Amino acid sequence: MEEISNFIKTIMKNDLESGKCKSIMTRFPPEPNAYLHIGHARAMITNFELAQSFGGKTNLRFDDTNPAKEDTEFVEAIKKDIEWLGYHPANVFYGSDYFEQTYELAVKLIKKGLAYVCDLSQEEISKYRGDLHNPGIESPYRNRSVEENLELFENMKNGKYAEGEKVLRAKIDMSSPNINMRDPVLYRILYIKHHRTQDKWCIYPMYDFAHPIQDAIEGITHSLCSLEYDNHRVLYDWVIEKCEMPNVPQQIEFGRLNITNTIMSKRYLRELVQSCKVIGYDDPRMPTLVGLKRRGYTPDAIKNFVKASGLSRVNSTIEGEMLEHFLREDLKLKTNRLMAVTDPLKIIIDNYEEGKIEYVDALNNAENEELGSRKVAFSKYLYIEKEDFILEKPNKHYKRLALGLEVRLYHAYFIKANSVETDSEGNIIAVHCTYDPQTKSGTGFNERKPNGTIQFVEATTARKAQFNLFEPLIIESEDDDRSFLDRINPNSWVIRNGFVENYKPHFEELERFQFIRDGYYTVDKDSQDDKLVFNRIAPLKSSIK
Ligand code: ATP
Ligand code: MG
Repeated sequence: MEEISNFIKTIMKNDLESGKCKSIMTRFPPEPNAYLHIGHARAMITNFELAQSFGGKTNLRFDDTNPAKEDTEFVEAIKKDIEWLGYHPANVFYGSDYFEQTYELAVKLIKKGLAYVCDLSQEEISKYRGDLHNPGIESPYRNRSVEENLELFENMKNGKYAEGEKVLRAKIDMSSPNINMRDPVLYRILYIKHHRTQDKWCIYPMYDFAHPIQDAIEGITHSLCSLEYDNHRVLYDWVIEKCEMPNVPQQIEFGRLNITNTIMSKRYLRELVQSCKVIGYDDPRMPTLVGLKRRGYTPDAIKNFVKASGLSRVNSTIEGEMLEHFLREDLKLKTNRLMAVTDPLKIIIDNYEEGKIEYVDALNNAENEELGSRKVAFSKYLYIEKEDFILEKPNKHYKRLALGLEVRLYHAYFIKANSVETDSEGNIIAVHCTYDPQTKSGTGFNERKPNGTIQFVEATTARKAQFNLFEPLIIESEDDDRSFLDRINPNSWVIRNGFVENYKPHFEELERFQFIRDGYYTVDKDSQDDKLVFNRIAPLKSSIK
């Protein structure tokens, strides 16, 4: 497994050595308003692995201070994703656990003259805030007395005002060069049922106020977040200082992870699901962790990919190919290599006895004998891939079957194609071949070289299977300004129907295989014993030449 090493690790090491902190405590703080995607995995893996590498701990904290889009469905899904990746949070907390303490700290700020109730509307607040070139204008409500603010804030809490009528703001500096410091909103009114606290509260703290408080209460030492929070750090530190929190966590930002041809924003993923462009959050083409899992990706492939993508203070865009690379690396020696035919062409061996089936010993993985062996069936009737036969006269680079040419069938015999059988429209329905009994696999026959080696499946024992082949969901192109919903790749999910060798009676969901000369596959959750369904996780070779 790749080792995690980066600038944050160095900071932690120094903090431990200087005695700034005694142990490392991190948290992974997803908002339970969507399914996690592979970008979130960077945050998750970074938090858990860094703490682990110092013998520290990581909390899972659901950042549920905005009840508008949150739901327990997402809470449960996120817990499962974390478990799937193999992490164990020290505690599972919710931002809403701290509503009472957060409220009391807001009261404390009011008493210190550092917060006030403001009646400006949202639009007015942003207009008064100014911009990078112009200082803000102070709100006319900024100098209310402490007593008045305490009373108004309590009224807010007691539901005396409508949504948007009043907010609580920090009193900092309307001319600060950092716009986040221009009297940011700390609390707003929302009459929305919260998935945990129900109707208890009608005021909810803003992220910038709630998050540092939550970190401090939990004793978080290093609060890692993505780069867009960079210019919120001053406010984070302000809240910790003015609320006089006994623990002082340190916010550190890291770059976000992006992947080529992959949309990684919760909002877009939701739109894909809602517009039925995909079959759900676990559609095998989705970059969600549930999608990657159903597609067949392994936790180790994902972790190694994220670790290898590095971690720095700039956002990075990584080739999706890299993820396939780590999948192949992970599965190469772990999976059995079976034979499957995704687009079948019938082969009839004219000189083989009718009704006879023989079984040949085959290693499950030629590079790892520990995976044992199996019996592969051979008879007069076989299937090969359509693309492994051509009727036209082949050139000398062609290494497959053609009339007059001989190929080796993996784990079986050499066969030579003699003639084709066609239907009334001239389509090939079968290829007549002869086999050479001397060439049986394992006998060391080396008198002739075949024109390549191809896979096959014995027809009478073959299991029917559907193969799902994937390409990137969205077509990315520089000069295409259509919405992403109009840029769905029509080949992103191609279905093929064929056969797989009868390896075992029941193929378990998520069992993974290599199908020889094709790629790595897993068993989809819709698979049934009489109609197997396989998802191609990744082709054997990179499509980038
Ligand atoms: P939104 O899509 O609404 O911006 P979010 O991605 O910020 O949401 P959260 O649930 O707040 O979603 O994310 C949890 C953690 O994952 C945060 O610390 C966030 O910074 C981090 N994170 C999210 N996307 C990425 C990404 N692409 N790369 C790295 N970290 C990410
Ligand atoms: Mg967020």
